[in-house]
Amino acid sequence: MNTYTDTEADNAWVQAQAESEAAKAIKIERETHKLEKRLCRQMGQAISDFNLIEEGDRIMVCMSGGKDSYGMLDILLKMKARAPVDFELVAVNLDQKQPGFPAHILPAYLKALGVEYHIETQDTYSIVKDKIPEGKTMCSLCSRLRRGILYRVARELKCNKLALGHHRDDMLQTFFLNMFFGGKLKGMPPKLVSDNGEFMVIRPLAYVAETDLIRWAEHRQFPIIPCTLCGSQENLQRLQVGNMLREWQKKHPGRIENMFSALQNVVPSHLMDAKLHGFKDLKITGIADEAGDTAFDEEEFKEASLPGIQVISM
Ligand code: SF4
Repeated sequence: MNTYTDTEADNAWVQAQAESEAAKAIKIERETHKLEKRLCRQMGQAISDFNLIEEGDRIMVCMSGGKDSYGMLDILLKMKARAPVDFELVAVNLDQKQPGFPAHILPAYLKALGVEYHIETQDTYSIVKDKIPEGKTMCSLCSRLRRGILYRVARELKCNKLALGHHRDDMLQTFFLNMFFGGKLKGMPPKLVSDNGEFMVIRPLAYVAETDLIRWAEHRQFPIIPCTLCGSQENLQRLQVGNMLREWQKKHPGRIENMFSALQNVVPSHLMDAKLHGFKDLKITGIADEAGDTAFDEEEFKEASLPGIQVISM
């Protein structure tokens, strides 16, 4: 029996474990730092590309309690601290009185953050339950009611902009949903005027990948509120399209980035919407154009990539 050797071996093992743990911790820290930089860069890029935030804006940040809205507020606060323009943020949550909604979580979180916030309590859940027959989807009435309330709150809080936490993958999903089920080439814009014409709606996470928001939420340990409290079934079509996109990305890495890039590179002359392109009045010019359509040749595709958009594993 050689006790000394056993002890030595044990020590070496413990030391190796500690070193591997330390190396892991350093790697996670480095990746988290990279993730934070990427989130800020992508939000900054979207703000600049679409002029989402301007001097003097008072922005109502719509908080659902999900990872996306927590991430949006978190990164917006970082952007505010370093922005060349002065703007205000007001976090707003609508408590719709869904059964089991943990009403204390968001106020406690926002208070601790020191950000201006408002919790609006309106029992839309009872109205929706009352009006919609059992088993039918409640979302359209629920969101219509929510929209009206949020506009009123924005008006009362003197906000001119409403920030929503939709990200790159939501935008792509919406694009495919419109194409598959609505017969339209239509996505989810990073900026639009609200339907009542009163507010600018902005989506500062437009360039951010959902996987990054999931990792950020884990890192920041946001107190996530489950989104299934209303009891409504998940939107099956959205679920299907989401799965389809994830499958594609798994089999063909980079496809999501290419598709997202396509949303920013629209060529109306090569689609078929006669309202967007004057096909009927098209005339021969007699002038050669290198960028023109060769008509007979096969299209060649180079690897497209969108700067700043990449997914990392942690
Ligand atoms: S999922 Fe629930 S809370 Fe969300 S819109 Fe539908 S009914 Fe409303």
